[in-house]
Amino acid sequence: METLHHWINGARVKGSGRMADVYNPATGEVQAQVPLASKAELDEAVAKAAEAQVAWGATNPQRRARVMMKFGQLINEHMDELAELVSKEHGKTLPDGRGDVQRGLEVVEVCMGGPSLLKGEFTDDGGPGIDLYSMRQPLGVVAGITPFNFPAMIPLWKMAPALTCGNAMVLKPSERCPSTALRLAELLQEAGLPDGVLQVVNGDKEAVDAILDNETIQGVGFVGSTPIAQYIYGRAANNGKRAQCFGGAKNHMIIMPDADIDKAADALVGAGYGAAGERCMAISVAVPVGKETADALIEKLVPRVEKLKVGPYTSGEEVDYGPVITAASKARIEKLIDSGVDAGAKLVVDGRGFKLQGYENGFFVGPSLFDDVTPDMEIYREEIFGPVLSTVRTESYEEALKLTMDNPYGNGTAIYTADGDTARDFAHRVNVGMVGINFPIPVPLSYHTFGGWKKSAFGDLNQYGPDAFRFYTKTKTVTARWFSGIKEGGEFNFKAMD
Ligand code: NAD
Repeated sequence: METLHHWINGARVKGSGRMADVYNPATGEVQAQVPLASKAELDEAVAKAAEAQVAWGATNPQRRARVMMKFGQLINEHMDELAELVSKEHGKTLPDGRGDVQRGLEVVEVCMGGPSLLKGEFTDDGGPGIDLYSMRQPLGVVAGITPFNFPAMIPLWKMAPALTCGNAMVLKPSERCPSTALRLAELLQEAGLPDGVLQVVNGDKEAVDAILDNETIQGVGFVGSTPIAQYIYGRAANNGKRAQCFGGAKNHMIIMPDADIDKAADALVGAGYGAAGERCMAISVAVPVGKETADALIEKLVPRVEKLKVGPYTSGEEVDYGPVITAASKARIEKLIDSGVDAGAKLVVDGRGFKLQGYENGFFVGPSLFDDVTPDMEIYREEIFGPVLSTVRTESYEEALKLTMDNPYGNGTAIYTADGDTARDFAHRVNVGMVGINFPIPVPLSYHTFGGWKKSAFGDLNQYGPDAFRFYTKTKTVTARWFSGIKEGGEFNFKAMD
């Protein structure tokens, strides 16, 4: 069995204490062991990162961007290998694993042009002989704490902007899917990143708490479930750190009577069941408006949901989604389905008790579809994070909008309609961070920014795009006055900056 490691000062470093099992979710077997760092190991990695950051922060932005250029090229060259690493530990299909890497790569691509986002501001003659200029400087050492469900994309969303801004980063990936981040760190070294600037420290709560209490760490970027996001935000902020913590979701899709129901049903199947529903941007609640719309939608959804193929990633393009991440997750999802049935929701497709020949111990959950769900039910209130779609019927657009807005989460939402006025009104009024119009998973492109509202995000500024460059830098403003003009002759040669 493989024994994984940390990545510290540009080398693989063995753990020195506790270990955790990493499962193959398709078979239920333990396929590797990952070290869980102690506070002392974490603090040591941070101290080394702080040393390495000094020279990296002083490296000019174009040179740092060139590391990202080479890194992007290496990610492309290793796309299949990285996708397989993702799928092997997460269980998602290979095309989905490739998508996971691709959406992270796109943030690296924006970082290739990072210097333009690091430019400061200048006021000429703000007073008599006085100029003001503001510069964006790195925070120093920052930390990234990432979830299991996007083992490539979210570490890349964290590390690429943080490093481009001149910070060193200590990344603590999910202990359930650690291998991709370790491999990305090796590729970054090959791309020219100096040793120590990116430390990958594996671990669990002990390592996270050590990050939150470490006085050298200046900023924390977290992605994961809402209770942990809120906890991390509170403790990091209390310790004087800059923090942005992205949490869970319960994404609603409104289907208006004038929507193309076939297209809406196709979208719901992809957005609800893709990656076994283990996406923070998955649609987990369908909200048809009017009885006719709801009846037509359910009629279209049932055959599509029943037809979904569930299986291991090794089946290639043949399967729609793979297993969920752990046996505990499978048990929790099935218990939530039970609770929906007990509460009186209509289970029109039942995915419980799903078994796959040859993979009887895998963590597979069949697709489930609920009709007649009401907002008081546990299946509506909880983020299920599994292949379960709940339908809440509404009478009017206003009722559907209110339902979406009253939900405590605010990550993503979508509306399917043929009416521009309704779509515009929805996009304008809804209190959710990312909105799709006839578009089910509205993850913004990498030069925009990603972030939810309400209980889906704590702290300031979004992930990636210009916001990331603000989060990972602090502003310094200089007010300068010079009493005399140029004292010596000018220089006439055309000098390169690098
Ligand atoms: P999680 O909260 O269990 O874990 C996330 C990270 O926090 C991991 O690195 C884990 O080691 C650490 N952690 C877990 N428990 C901790 C504790 N008690 N104290 C300190 N650290 C702890 O989340 P997960 O199950 O890995 O990921 C799924 C969740 O992430 C879902 O809720 C999903 O919606 C959310 N998510 C959100 C976004 C977003 O951008 N909003 C993106 C992807 C996933």
